[in-house]
Amino acid sequence: MNSTERKVLRRIRHLASVLLLFLFFAFLYSRSWKHALFLEPLYEIKTDRNVVVLTFDDGPSEGRTLPLLDLLEKHNVKGTFFMLGQQIEEYPDIARQVVERGHLVGNHSYDHPRMYLKSPQFIRGQIERTDSLIISLGQPDVHYFRPPFSAKFILLPLVLNSMDKYLVTGTYDPPAEYLTPYNGAVVAGEIVQNIRPGSIIYLHDGKSSDVEEFLKSVELTIRKLKERGYEFVRVDGGS
Ligand SMILES: [Zn+2]
Repeated sequence: MNSTERKVLRRIRHLASVLLLFLFFAFLYSRSWKHALFLEPLYEIKTDRNVVVLTFDDGPSEGRTLPLLDLLEKHNVKGTFFMLGQQIEEYPDIARQVVERGHLVGNHSYDHPRMYLKSPQFIRGQIERTDSLIISLGQPDVHYFRPPFSAKFILLPLVLNSMDKYLVTGTYDPPAEYLTPYNGAVVAGEIVQNIRPGSIIYLHDGKSSDVEEFLKSVELTIRKLKERGYEFVRVDGGS
């Protein structure tokens, strides 16, 4: 190898390490719910009003969704449901009731893949397939997308920009919701302690387990936050 070739090789190595470093920091930056490359995620509602958004992911399910709808109706609360296309195919009648009862349906992909390093074609396919299922439920359009695992690195935001959609993350995800056994009072306690005006709260109606405790967590959250003067709105501000 002559000296010119060595110089070129050094330059390529240098460029590659700069690129890797950039990707590493971009990845770290994208891990936060507050940041993404190419757009600003919706991680809270910008407002001075005491409003809070309850979001329900991964559904609909046979166990949790219908009793949840009854509970929300009892308290006159509207929520936002980030549904999976494959769940809509499995439970279309339950999914349709979510729309008919005034809640907002957002897109949570077709079958919950991690969106890290996926091609635009793959991402677009997951979104479009689920959009048409949601539209078949009677909701005229779908403006909100929440990535599975909140993974948005690296091309997802660009695809969402081109589809004119919001990328929704959230403000608080109660850790106790992932524990076994599920303790509704603990989940509600975590939410109430960590709330602020405009918070978007993560909850999950996609499982069919622990229905009673799940409903308890939602009901206690609603009661306690209403006592503190909070109103519940959908992620688009509707109520
Ligand atoms: Zn999910």
